[in-house]
Amino acid sequence: MAYLRYVRIADAPAHAARSRSSAPFAGIPGNMRHAAEFAPVEVPIARFRVITPEAVVPCRSAADVVAVVGDVRRRGAAFAVRSGGHCFAGRSSATGMVMDVGPMDEVVAGDGVVTVGAGARLGQIYDALEPLGRTIAGGCGPTVGIAGLTLGGGLGIFGRRHGLTCDQLVAAEVVLADGSVVECDAHREPDLFWALRGAGGGQFGVVTRLTLTTVAAPPAITCFDLTWPHEAAAEIIEAWQEWSPDAPDEMAASLLADGRTVHVFGAGDGRPPVRGETETVVELPYREAKRWLAENGPADEAEGRFDYSKSEFFRHTLPASAVEDLASHLRDGPGERRELDFSPWAGAYNRTPTDATAFPHRNARFLLKQTISTRGEAGDDERRWLHESWEITRPYGAGGVYPNFPDPDLEDPLAAYHGTNLDRLERVKAAYDPDNFFRFPQSLWTGAPSTTTGEPSAVSRPPWRRSQIMSQWIADSFVPPVSGYERPRAR
Ligand SMILES: Cc1cc2nc3c(=O)[nH]c(=O)nc-3n(C[C@H](O)[C@H](O)[C@H](O)COP(=O)(O)OP(=O)(O)OC[C@H]3O[C@@H](n4cnc5c(N)ncnc54)[C@H](O)[C@@H]3O)c2cc1C
Repeated sequence: MAYLRYVRIADAPAHAARSRSSAPFAGIPGNMRHAAEFAPVEVPIARFRVITPEAVVPCRSAADVVAVVGDVRRRGAAFAVRSGGHCFAGRSSATGMVMDVGPMDEVVAGDGVVTVGAGARLGQIYDALEPLGRTIAGGCGPTVGIAGLTLGGGLGIFGRRHGLTCDQLVAAEVVLADGSVVECDAHREPDLFWALRGAGGGQFGVVTRLTLTTVAAPPAITCFDLTWPHEAAAEIIEAWQEWSPDAPDEMAASLLADGRTVHVFGAGDGRPPVRGETETVVELPYREAKRWLAENGPADEAEGRFDYSKSEFFRHTLPASAVEDLASHLRDGPGERRELDFSPWAGAYNRTPTDATAFPHRNARFLLKQTISTRGEAGDDERRWLHESWEITRPYGAGGVYPNFPDPDLEDPLAAYHGTNLDRLERVKAAYDPDNFFRFPQSLWTGAPSTTTGEPSAVSRPPWRRSQIMSQWIADSFVPPVSGYERPRAR
């Protein structure tokens, strides 16, 4: 009989230490790899580090997921679903169980589509498609999970040409809260399929397989990093926001500013029509270009560094006074690093109607993410800096927040993430997960009593109150530690 092994996180540190040798997780057999990944010392995402699961369950098939869903229901355990583990808000960890779909990482290229297990990482998919001259529209970070990226949207250098990664989703296999396994696409379970495209992360079911449209990978693409000193920040930001969102769809030029240097960074069929004070411009084969962008672009969190960010979509350019204030606020402040990250929107992002998928942010000019990085947990000064920076731009924002950049501090998170699609999403949630089995502090909420915990129901709008109550509820419903044991694997 085959067995699923539940890994005790208490066993992790010794293995984590070994994993810091040259090859990640070298010498860690099988499932212990997962323990190491979830040990606080190893986990790279800020809020993740403060959550230590009792057990991480590697799922190798939809049947494994069904078994774990059943077990979680019986035990009433707090749980989370994890693919690539990059969630800014640590939603793919829980103090109870983590269903880790990582082992489901097969990538099968078909005719104009690619079918991937929910544990596949972006780099794997780009590598598999490269020999075919194909790719998918998605981000550059090679270790980002395809599931989390797609279910929350998915921006990248091809986004202005082809749209979000979720716009390329054509079918998915999902394990629902009642343990059933469904295939969904435009014709089968169309409401679920609609909801998954932009609002699917951890709140409707566990996606185990995704099929995405592929697009032709150009033989070569121009990558660029144009830089100026911080003194030019306001001028460059003003020029960027007038130019970049209106540039041809083939141009994906972000603006990054860190208080010392301003970068216009990205890729396109040519270079931007400006000269930096210093610049690197290289033409590379497409796959090489993706690597170059990942290596030279915004960095992942370094060990011991915590990133805190707030973000918003903008439909109009920021006025000069706000840009000046933003630049001067950026220059001096606490923290190890402060960053403004402007991503151009428009193009194909905006050509999909707002209600065609659950992703509602279809009429923006740009997305601005503001980040402060700290050694250890952020203190009052760092939090204040971030809040003040966000307040500078807030009067001009569209109010929408990218679901893949979750912000635990939002006052009205459901409206911010889901906008005008919120009502339909709540109906889909009620149909597919009436007892809120899949939940996290800012998740959609049906108001129904939970069959797993019997917790009180009927929490009504406004949504921000719901999420606050949900936070408390989740905190209260954590179960005692799960010790290491083995259980029969589902067939
Ligand atoms: C270094 C870095 C680079 C990034 N680059 C980009 C980028 O270029 N473009 C972009 O758009 N975003 C980018 N992001 C943000 C990224 O899109 C989100 O963090 C995304 O949620 C990551 O997905 P994941 O599977 O890696 O994360 P996870 O933490 O595993 O999952 C994210 C969320 O989805 C849920 N989830 C995971 N798997 C499943 C599943 N199988 N079924 C149902 N729910 C699931 C989780 O429970 C969680 O709520 C980046 C983030 C980081 C840290």
